[in-house]
Amino acid sequence: MDEFAIIRRYFTRLGPVTPEVQLGVGDDAALLKLQAGEQLVVSVDSAVVERHFFANTDPWAIGWRALAVALSDLAAMGARPIGFTLALTLPQVDEAWLQAFSQGLAAQAEASQCPLIGGDTTLGALNIGIQVLGAVANERAWQRRGAREGDLLAVTGPLGLARGGLISVQRDPARLQQRNDWNLLERSYLLPRPQLQEAARLMQGAAIHAAIDVSDGLLADLQHLLAASALGAELDLSRLPLHPELVSLLGEDEARAAALQGGDDYVLLISFADEDLPLVRNLCSEVFVLGRCVAGAGMRNEQGQLLKPAGYNHFPEP
Ligand code: ADP
Ligand code: MG
Repeated sequence: MDEFAIIRRYFTRLGPVTPEVQLGVGDDAALLKLQAGEQLVVSVDSAVVERHFFANTDPWAIGWRALAVALSDLAAMGARPIGFTLALTLPQVDEAWLQAFSQGLAAQAEASQCPLIGGDTTLGALNIGIQVLGAVANERAWQRRGAREGDLLAVTGPLGLARGGLISVQRDPARLQQRNDWNLLERSYLLPRPQLQEAARLMQGAAIHAAIDVSDGLLADLQHLLAASALGAELDLSRLPLHPELVSLLGEDEARAAALQGGDDYVLLISFADEDLPLVRNLCSEVFVLGRCVAGAGMRNEQGQLLKPAGYNHFPEP
């Protein structure tokens, strides 16, 4: 099967038909039409084998997850998806793998209403580059720098579950293949859901001042938001939600560390005024308030101790 047959069979008409996409896969480039009064939102993510995912993971989940992770950045901007491109590097043509990978990708594309509009297919070490394109009403995108002194800080879902899932499959790598048997933690890690619905509802119904998606770990990502907003934060870690399944896998101390520093959860961390809390609670099924923004810099716990912004870093300083 040659390059063009692969594209035709696995990567043509993938995802929903949407009004924005006027020309998709098959020509030299795609054509998109934005609605009046909207800005284009663009982000790209790489999924590198053995760095972002294990080679022997169920390929359906590799496809689902690669797109989910990329779409999470659109959710964090408050944008709605309009399409994505796929730069795919494959070590060989494995039709069973391609079939499952493209089906997982298509399932996420349908779930998020985000069609595949183009890409590139090459030979080499397995690598999945996904660029997502979205739209947001002019001047309405959430940025990291928008937080205000006194704002509440909250996350829109549980933390640390994905780290628990990672630890679980590291202990028993055969589980990477057993998609139908994955527990809650493993699903959180291998089949994350970008919080696009929460983002759309919050964009409609509340005044979110700043947002970021939690990909590298709560403390690391919160520090990015605070630095961009030139603020510090006081956290009440007694309010940190610790899921019972996480506690039963890791014990309470490690579960707490996973919730603070584990990455890959892809929930939204948002900042907003006190009076918007009832609205935010109404718009999202899960909201955990963790603290508030204060003047100054750095993050402190309820005892006033400084917290290190530890999290994942591809290029840590020696
Ligand atoms: P070109 O040589 O002009 O870059 P390609 O042969 O790389 O064209 O691609 C042909 C068409 O197939 C283009 O529309 C391109 O966007 C699309 N395409 C190639 N690879 C992929 C892929 N992995 N997923 C989706 N579309 C793809
Ligand atoms: Mg090309």
